[in-house]
Amino acid sequence: MKTVYLAFGSNLGDRTENIMFAVCSLKEKEIELLDISNLYESEPYGVVDQPAFLNCVGKFRYYGTPESLLDITMEVEKKLYRKRERRWGPRTIDIDILLFGTTGYKSDRLTIPHYDMKNRSFVLIPLLEIAPNILEPGTGIPYREYLKDMSGNDLKLAKSSEAFLKELKITCTVSPLKGGYYG
Ligand code: AMP
Repeated sequence: MKTVYLAFGSNLGDRTENIMFAVCSLKEKEIELLDISNLYESEPYGVVDQPAFLNCVGKFRYYGTPESLLDITMEVEKKLYRKRERRWGPRTIDIDILLFGTTGYKSDRLTIPHYDMKNRSFVLIPLLEIAPNILEPGTGIPYREYLKDMSGNDLKLAKSSEAFLKELKITCTVSPLKGGYYG
């Protein structure tokens, strides 16, 4: 069993619902949610002429490999009809694998820890809410060290994790991968 941390981002359509759909879809694949951060609104990263993002980080339990986890997260992204028209452009859902257990992993399609996570306040702030003492695999540097140079002023609290979990309980009773409200 591995503890994995996933980052979610959405800036198209009903952003909260998109993230809920993703979390429910992961549950259907036995990727069990253990904890989730608050949801934050953040200004777009990279390409700036696009709607603001909703971001959060979840802690999950997973029994498979990093590659099979990527297959599943990509399948969920596909189910949400994500269009990849331009790099860092609008997306209904983006799921990044931040951490997988306590060690790093590298292949031609996967780099863990996620290559840019320590530079992104919209990843570090929610991650540290649910894992305040977490260390960077390889270096052993606490991730909170990377937050020191960031103000966090670019993030706005959009929804508390408690409110999100309450709504999630209702949403997840509709089976998203077997039809459900997404058809
Ligand atoms: P993006 O959606 O722009 O974040 O890019 C997704 C692509 O990045 C996927 O096709 C993966 O092959 C690759 N990738 C590399 N490392 C990671 C990671 N840690 N989590 C998710 N995708 C990754």
